[in-house]
Amino acid sequence: MSTPEYYDHGALVAVLTTQPLGKALDYKAPEGGCFLGAFVEVPLGPRKVLGVVWGPGQGDYDISKVRHVIRVLDAAPMRSEMREFLTRAAAYTLTPMPAMLRLGTRAPGLGDPPSMRKIYRRGTGTPPRMTDARTRVLETLEDYGDLAFTLKELAEMAGVTPSVVKGLAQSGAVFEEDSPRDLPFPRLDPALPGKQLTEDQAKGAEMLAEAVRSETYGTTLLRGVTGSGKTEVYLEAVAAALSAGRQALVLLPEIALTEQFLHRVEERFGAKPAEWHSGATMTERRRIWRMVGQGQAQLVIGARSALFLPYQNLGLIVVDEEHDSSYKQEEGVLYNARDMAVLRAAICGAQVVLASATPSLETWANVEAGKYRRLDLTSRFGPAVMPTMGAIDMRGEALPSDKWVSPSLQAEVNKRLEKGEQAMLFINRRGYAPITLCRACGHQIGCDHCDARMVEHRFLKRLVCHQCGESKPMPEACPSCEAVDKLAPVGPGVERLGEEALALWPDAKVATLSSDMYGSARALKAEIAGIADGAADIIIGTQLVAKGHNFPNLTLVGVIDADLGLMGSDLRAAERTFQLMRQVAGRAGRAEAPGTALLQTYQPEHPVIRAILAGDEDAFWSAEAGERKQAGVPPYGRMAGIILSGPDVAQVFDAGNLLASQDGPLRAIGAQVFGPAAAPIARVRGRHRVRLLVKADKSAPLQDALARWVAQVRLKGDLRLAVDIDPQSF
Ligand code: ADP
Ligand code: ZN
Repeated sequence: MSTPEYYDHGALVAVLTTQPLGKALDYKAPEGGCFLGAFVEVPLGPRKVLGVVWGPGQGDYDISKVRHVIRVLDAAPMRSEMREFLTRAAAYTLTPMPAMLRLGTRAPGLGDPPSMRKIYRRGTGTPPRMTDARTRVLETLEDYGDLAFTLKELAEMAGVTPSVVKGLAQSGAVFEEDSPRDLPFPRLDPALPGKQLTEDQAKGAEMLAEAVRSETYGTTLLRGVTGSGKTEVYLEAVAAALSAGRQALVLLPEIALTEQFLHRVEERFGAKPAEWHSGATMTERRRIWRMVGQGQAQLVIGARSALFLPYQNLGLIVVDEEHDSSYKQEEGVLYNARDMAVLRAAICGAQVVLASATPSLETWANVEAGKYRRLDLTSRFGPAVMPTMGAIDMRGEALPSDKWVSPSLQAEVNKRLEKGEQAMLFINRRGYAPITLCRACGHQIGCDHCDARMVEHRFLKRLVCHQCGESKPMPEACPSCEAVDKLAPVGPGVERLGEEALALWPDAKVATLSSDMYGSARALKAEIAGIADGAADIIIGTQLVAKGHNFPNLTLVGVIDADLGLMGSDLRAAERTFQLMRQVAGRAGRAEAPGTALLQTYQPEHPVIRAILAGDEDAFWSAEAGERKQAGVPPYGRMAGIILSGPDVAQVFDAGNLLASQDGPLRAIGAQVFGPAAAPIARVRGRHRVRLLVKADKSAPLQDALARWVAQVRLKGDLRLAVDIDPQSF
């Protein structure tokens, strides 16, 4: 082990700050010196800002003018691994270092004085007088043995007011102490027995565990149909990491909905892991950040930003549902968490497991190129088999124009209800109706700030823009012609489908799962758990239900509009539709009863629909790969988007045209520029967005050329430029 580099008082250090200045600035080390990587507060003009000691100073200023670091913050220095990760991630995504550093310093409370909060544990004294409330507090503490709690936690757990705890503390029956530390996480025990694995699963688990024990970098695609036991298998890889004293990270796409998952972890390892997500409180995030940094938090389950926690000894990263498009962050720093997971692991000698029933074409290509290993789980666990797939040709169905459940699908649902099984109707559209049309003048209500229609959310009684989140009360009169009572919903959303189901099956229990309808993620989780226990006969849902939930009694999935994703010109549309349909279908028949998935479609002959029906993944992927190869697009070529935005559309296009005309640096590497054209989302929050697409050979040094290219333009006024490497749509 090399000792960390240390700078004595007065030594010149380069400090990178989160302020948009670009490079690190020189400061003098404070009294007491500082370590390389230390989190510090430095003066910047009249302000004090957060920074990280990034290396020795450059010394290219007048030394006498260089100011001192104000103070070193109470946090372990950033490890060299983390600095390397941020540097390389910034270089790959062409993100300015300060913005990247912000991702790595997002610990709330970093820079605050050390938290000296009070904690409470069982004391030895006896209170002069016992009351029911006091008894409850003492019993609660006894139940938890050595554990200490904050005032609020203890009072809540015992169901008393904080003053009761305070009173007990005065008598010595409860100890009150200052705790500069955050509460540790309970220990996970990898030696607890796991499930009895099938031969297939056991082989996979052993291969992954061995890779983890090698303490070197490697990536494995863990592929298997929904329900084949991928989770069971990668939990064994987690066990191997924990046994070796290393940390593990499991990334999940829909972090708010992992109650079932946390239970499984708890069952396997005897305690809950650290859960990192945007809904966590500041205190909780701060605790996780510190405990991860000390190596105390052994396992983190998290959303994509969990990649930027300061792991001490990371041995494994699992990216579950690796194909999920929510891994791509589309605002601020544009990065794909799947790809960054691979980079992070390569730097710290960890293993990556990419798990999916429907891997991305990118991952397929990396397997084919020999960069990733591949592990297949070929059958569903136990008696469950893959659902039978079928199409309902909507051209032959008699259906009024404002109804969407075809007679054929109704009949299939009826059969399930008779047998006491569950059915799901899936539609990938939130809200009541995608279009609100004035029948007097033909006006469609749009968002004032975006190029998007406002979507009626009847449950909320509001119109909502799905681009920017703007919402307003549902108007009574048309905003254009002022006609009253002429606004009509057009097209189906999940709420409207729910209404239709209630009318069709008045005696059935219909549950509509839409995030709007539940005040909180917790309420939604409770609803989902209830449904798994049989609280609904018919489940109506969006993408929210397509992922990861186990509904053991569900035997039929009806996809209301299988053609929805196939519209538009996006080259990824086929891939997305294929993945989503397979995923949704995978919800059916997870236990003993066999499942069926039926797709309502107007184009049953479409190659994507046919591939879904045939369940022939290899055929689908090789056809898809062929098309992408021919077009020279990812994963067989490289692409980047440049998004220019500003309040004035003409000015934004002018800047785009200017940039397109100065394509020397791109031509030098054989890359082509397309556009400017309106971006896929052409206006967001009042800013017009224009996109240039750059296409290059797989081996071309794209980032270098892009950096030189965009550096040529000076952005005037309120114009902004963002680089999107590997855009999601092209
Ligand atoms: P996937 O992650 O591939 O969708 P899961 O790991 O969630 O699959 O497994 C599907 C279901 O089957 C889960 O309820 C899981 O607990 C169960 N299961 C899978 N393998 C086993 C096993 N070997 N023993 C007992 N239950 C299993
Ligand atoms: Zn909007």
